[in-house]
Amino acid sequence: MAKYRSITEMAEEIRDEALDNIEYKGITLRELCDKLKSNEYVPVVRGEWKPIFKGADTCECSVCKREGFSDSDYGFIATPYCPNCGAKMDKGE
Ligand SMILES: [Zn+2]
Repeated sequence: MAKYRSITEMAEEIRDEALDNIEYKGITLRELCDKLKSNEYVPVVRGEWKPIFKGADTCECSVCKREGFSDSDYGFIATPYCPNCGAKMDKGE
């Protein structure tokens, strides 16, 4: 009845099955891990909107220091990503 010689062997088989059978956005976890190891994905840069005054109240990106998106009707719009450098904006936790 005993199929495994050790807990480690059983854990490794479970891990291998999970890596090959669990998919995320159309690729398996094993493929995802390989992509991460090969640096195919770049790390997410995080920033935040810093209030500045430039004729009107607006905000600049803490990463690239460029002004965020403003609209004549709504004023500054705190977009979730910087439209200039792509930094992901944290909402002050
Ligand atoms: Zn930016």
